[in-house]
Amino acid sequence: MRFSEIIGNDALKESLIRMVRGNRLGHAILLTEENGGGAMAFALALAQLVNCRDPQENDSCGVCASCHKYQKLIHPDLHFAFPVSSSTALSESEKKAPISDYFLPAFRELVLANPYFTEQQLYDAIGIENKSGLISVSESRRIFEKLSLKAAEGTWKTMIIYLPEKMNLDAANKLLKLLEEPPQGTLFLLISHNPERLLPTIRSRCQPVRLLPLSREERRRVGGDRQDDAEFREIARSLLQASLDKRIIDLFPQWEMLADLGREKQREWCLYMENYIRKIYLVASGLESLADLSPQEEAAVRGFAAKFKPSFYEKAFAALEGALSAIGSNVNPKLTFCDLADRLLLAS
Ligand SMILES: [Zn+2]
Repeated sequence: MRFSEIIGNDALKESLIRMVRGNRLGHAILLTEENGGGAMAFALALAQLVNCRDPQENDSCGVCASCHKYQKLIHPDLHFAFPVSSSTALSESEKKAPISDYFLPAFRELVLANPYFTEQQLYDAIGIENKSGLISVSESRRIFEKLSLKAAEGTWKTMIIYLPEKMNLDAANKLLKLLEEPPQGTLFLLISHNPERLLPTIRSRCQPVRLLPLSREERRRVGGDRQDDAEFREIARSLLQASLDKRIIDLFPQWEMLADLGREKQREWCLYMENYIRKIYLVASGLESLADLSPQEEAAVRGFAAKFKPSFYEKAFAALEGALSAIGSNVNPKLTFCDLADRLLLAS
């Protein structure tokens, strides 16, 4: 991946390239993105640039032997760790302690096809679907082993860790050790959706880089409306309409549908809903130009903006935050979404 292929966040591209050129890049970078925001593209472009044998003024060359291997994600010094879970495709012994290596072919295929993938798209691609992925202590041990080796070819060994917040405490402590005493010539690139869920000691060891969410136009260029968007939008719209109409009977099918989604999808929907309500709030506040409305959502969002009371928004956000934390603590999803629907109706 070259920087020139990345869509969006142009100012960030320039400042990262300047850091590389000025030798100011730290040994650990924490990239924060909105789910599906393209931080993987940035991580790969950075890794490729620092290892390029003929770096250009503003990018890697894209043609040297190192760039070639980086572009195919097969460079021997490029390593990945990401959340996984057991899958029926694994052997019995692999199932006991699943690690990223077992899923690498599917992972590479996903990243090459779409570096703007979401967490759920990763789980779909590696075949763990409705399970939530984790980064276990076995994975941390594997990371340690990989980084103990001398770089095979490159100047830098690159370790890309997708969603380090999915590490359990043992795994996180092992990573912290590595960050405290980094093996020579190692570049850590962490990609997080919730950096506040990382150990503060891990966060403080990393150079923070925050990606801005893609605009609607940029999202269209990287592959359009997410597959789930139409479905998510319809649930959001129906739920808000039923709340406004105070029609409890119309709320049932919506929260039942939500309760049947897997946990990750439930989380994604809650984040989608927060964003949807934020748009309604912006339109209601006369700031429609900031709401970045898609043609599919314009009519509904404007209609809601005219109808919700000013007190609705804060209560709705609190209800969604409550639902997100309930999902995180494995509360029965029927209870979670019944409660959410109830609170939205009361707030409307
Ligand atoms: Zn090159």
